[in-house]
Amino acid sequence: MTEMLESSYLCGYCGELNEALVDPSGGSEQAYTEDCTVCCRPNALRVRIAADRAVTIDVEYEG
Ligand SMILES: [Zn+2]
Repeated sequence: MTEMLESSYLCGYCGELNEALVDPSGGSEQAYTEDCTVCCRPNALRVRIAADRAVTIDVEYEG
């Protein structure tokens, strides 16, 4: 099993902090949508995993 990397992002709609688990086997750049655990609105995430396994998550607003 691949070890999941822990990270977090701020919801683009309500601004609450969300925990995120990133699967590094998906590649060093990933894009997917995840629903906010607080307001349930979809955040379009762009995830980058650096060589040192540091995770950067950018949230793209939709609508
Ligand atoms: Zn939210």
